[in-house]
Amino acid sequence: MNIPFLSFDKTNDQIKTLTLEAIERCIDSKWYVLGNEVKEFESLYSTYNKVKFTIGVANGLDALHLSLLALEIKEGDEVIVPSNTYIASVLAVSYTGATPVFVEPDINTYNIDPDKIEEKITAKTKAILPVHLYGQACEMGKIMDIAQKHNLFVIEDNAQAHGAEFDGKITGSFGNINGTSFYPGKNLGALGDAGGITTDNEQLYTKCLSLRNYGSHKKYYNEVIGYNSRLDELQAAVLKVKLPFMAEWTNERIQIAAWYNEGLQGLAEIVLPATAPKASHVYHLYTIRTEKRDLLQQYLNQKGIGTLIHYPVPPHLQEAYKNLGYEEGDFPLAEKIAQTTLSLPLFIGMTQSQVEVVCQEIKSYFNA
Ligand SMILES: *Cc1c(COP(=O)(O)O)cnc(C)c1O
Repeated sequence: MNIPFLSFDKTNDQIKTLTLEAIERCIDSKWYVLGNEVKEFESLYSTYNKVKFTIGVANGLDALHLSLLALEIKEGDEVIVPSNTYIASVLAVSYTGATPVFVEPDINTYNIDPDKIEEKITAKTKAILPVHLYGQACEMGKIMDIAQKHNLFVIEDNAQAHGAEFDGKITGSFGNINGTSFYPGKNLGALGDAGGITTDNEQLYTKCLSLRNYGSHKKYYNEVIGYNSRLDELQAAVLKVKLPFMAEWTNERIQIAAWYNEGLQGLAEIVLPATAPKASHVYHLYTIRTEKRDLLQQYLNQKGIGTLIHYPVPPHLQEAYKNLGYEEGDFPLAEKIAQTTLSLPLFIGMTQSQVEVVCQEIKSYFNA
């Protein structure tokens, strides 16, 4: 039985007719950039994410970059980021000229360890950028307390955690301003690149409207050096079709993870994902850890089971960040995760028997 890492078969079946209708509506509207589809999706997403404002942008990286710019973060500033994250969280900080300052994760949740943030705060620190990695909410209680105590902004990277909660409050609604991605493979994904900024702050909202559209509120009058980072009408129309499925799809992800937890329990060689008290996990990824990661991945690949590594190289060891001067050993937990993590297949439509096959093959590998 071939089991892909990711499949769009079921979600595409669910949305195809509605999406074709939506695309036809876009064509007939004859208004292709920043029209009603974007406006309506922004309003629907604000309701979903329990914020006052959403600004649709071109992708998740831009969402974070423009959020930081709206807060006027710039060269000479420092922004605290997790050492264990996707590169986009760090790139967004670099684009502003500010310096990313890494904080190690909690080795159980893989999210930024709030107890290690304060020791990294300096006079230059302007913001904390927590990332709800793999779909688990960060410990936002402690993070918000630290931010308040030190007068720092918070920008959540919610690209992997649509619909997750900490202490009953949805991620993407804690920070002063937050970025998310609707890249096709994310929990809420478009049929191409797309992203969004969420905030309760009207001033930041207004700034972002301008930043995403050439630094202009009024056509041909430019207040700031802005960008072209608009959410596409077609992608907004697709996202409007998909958003109502989110509750169902999120529950399905949680169910698949529960099947994995059950099927893999008691295997001494692997570490299963753990969720912090008060946090919820929407399983953008189901990641295990094992010292035999590369061999296990090879074995599963031979059996027709797709897996991926999120992520093989932590940001501080990327060639692109040579200039920061870090070496191997500087962030040992992030490095350990990079060396041992493996993401198992998880997609909408995955059946219990498919999960059982993956678990069975993992067991066969370790029992051999
Ligand atoms: C996907 C992702 C992004 C960037 O999103 P894009 O839409 O690909 O630009 C940022 N942060 C994290 C954690 C992501 O997973």
